[in-house]
Amino acid sequence: MAIPFSVTFLGTGTSTGTPMIACGCAVCHSTDPRNRRTRPSVLITTTQGRILIDCGPEMRLQLLAAKTPSIDAVLLTHAHADHIHGLDDLRQLTFASGNPVDVYASGQTLKRVMHVYDYCFKDTGPGGGKPQLHLYEIAYGQTIELAGITIMATRHMHGTLDVTSYVIGDRFVYCTDVSLIPEETMSEFAGKDVVVVGAVRPDSKPHASHFVLPEALDVLGRLAPRLGLITHMSHSFEHATVEAQLAKNRRLAFDGLIVSLSDDQITLSSSPDSAHDCR
Ligand SMILES: [Zn+2]
Ligand SMILES: [Zn+2]
Ligand SMILES: [Zn+2]
Repeated sequence: MAIPFSVTFLGTGTSTGTPMIACGCAVCHSTDPRNRRTRPSVLITTTQGRILIDCGPEMRLQLLAAKTPSIDAVLLTHAHADHIHGLDDLRQLTFASGNPVDVYASGQTLKRVMHVYDYCFKDTGPGGGKPQLHLYEIAYGQTIELAGITIMATRHMHGTLDVTSYVIGDRFVYCTDVSLIPEETMSEFAGKDVVVVGAVRPDSKPHASHFVLPEALDVLGRLAPRLGLITHMSHSFEHATVEAQLAKNRRLAFDGLIVSLSDDQITLSSSPDSAHDCR
């Protein structure tokens, strides 16, 4: 029996975030908080700990908003800036706990992390705080246990780049930055209660490295989870307008959405704070 856990959407935006700098569109000026999207990340909370998936540029604000006192591990999907450019801010977790932060990712992603954050892995002399990152490679198809819950790494494609998707507690799939899901990975996603898929635009015009909404909905249609959620959305998603066109168990995620899985129940709620309030 899987232990109960919850998933908080810390950020649901594409790489630019919404609102975008220098954009005058209606969504970027919307007063609906669901149209304000920080860079993509989720926080998994179990009775035994907390796991962060991806660590973008707004991670500090996101963890402050979620009132997160500690993180037991960080899982990375890939090394694009919107997914790793908050890693330096993890140093505060080490200052608070005295412990290094464990980071899990594919070998390819870890290589990029060691390049971008090279100063963390060499002696740079006294002064200046650096995060202490302990890197662990997780292979596609490998299952590990963190915070009392099983996590399986699977592979999908993001243009020509391999990206890691994660199956949490054998119930929850997180698959962002995706343009193709191999059949063997679709098999691992089958039969799960909640599936999260990235989609960058609501229209059907193809994108080179991301699904657009009709493609993401096709995947959800094939997998038929009890709840399907969309993330990694650009400013072309007006939340209420697009969501009104979806089937009842298909939703757009938003910053602060909390999905709780306990026994056979899936419960949705929202955090009172978001990163936008936390400056
Ligand atoms: Zn991204
Ligand atoms: Zn805009
Ligand atoms: Zn990406």
